[in-house]
Amino acid sequence: MTNPFDLTGRVAVVTGANTGIGQGIALALAAAGADVAAVGRTPAQETVEKVRALGRRAEIISADLSTIEPVGRVVDEAVDKLGGLNILVNNAGIIRRNDSLDFTEEDWDAVVDTNLKSVFFLCQAAGKHMVANGGGKIINIASMLTFQGGIRVPSYTASKSGIGGLTKLLANEWAAKGINVNAIAPGYIATNNTAALQADETRNRQIMERIPAGRWGSPEDMGGAAVFLASSAADYVQGHILAVDGGWLAR
Ligand code: NAP
Repeated sequence: MTNPFDLTGRVAVVTGANTGIGQGIALALAAAGADVAAVGRTPAQETVEKVRALGRRAEIISADLSTIEPVGRVVDEAVDKLGGLNILVNNAGIIRRNDSLDFTEEDWDAVVDTNLKSVFFLCQAAGKHMVANGGGKIINIASMLTFQGGIRVPSYTASKSGIGGLTKLLANEWAAKGINVNAIAPGYIATNNTAALQADETRNRQIMERIPAGRWGSPEDMGGAAVFLASSAADYVQGHILAVDGGWLAR
């Protein structure tokens, strides 16, 4: 029997792959056999070196995803440099914190443009390639705030709630075209994105007390879910938002 989680010969585009969850996912996909196009505004040199050390091909694609300007080029470069595009992981994202009464238009637009608008248009660009080439897998990175309200992060909550809806909509439209669109909703993961929360003694304690697993997650904790959703093991999984949260939502 062949291994349904084997990604040998597949090309994965991972955005925001230089650090954090994106790096963890890129390395897990490579360990399962995929070649990786590491997309982002900061060159993902370390990630590329680690993927190559695993015996897989890896290329850096420079792109600032705060606008949709680079999305077509990202797909073209991945295809040119690695010969295809079978897996897209929309991981790049930002967060801005402020009371909703004081929240600025700039903080709204920056987060929604990066976390939601660019994700849709990169899905569209990759989707066109996948439809023309026999299908593919798209994995969006959602959040606990796809399900919950959060506090002092209105544009982030709006963007990640939007990711949940977008994931289901694209699954509805593209399932019959051979594309699986799903999402991973990480719990509280120790990365740059959560540095402020980790450093806040009170919030850190409150968060830890609520996580049944009793610890923050790591970028590596996201790897297995990504490999699953990127693989043929998930061929009949569509529009699902897979929480990888140490039990946070179960509490
Ligand atoms: P991170 O360490 O801050 O990584 C964010 C990544 O996104 C970085 O590679 C960053 O690149 C990239 N990025 C941001 N803006 C970009 C832009 N305009 N163009 C291209 N790349 C851009 O945070 P993380 O925790 O790994 O976050 C990854 C994803 O997981 C995000 O979508 C985040 O919302 C989501 N998430 C995180 C958690 C958590 O607890 N950490 C929980 C739920 C969801 P630079 O290094 O150049 O800034």
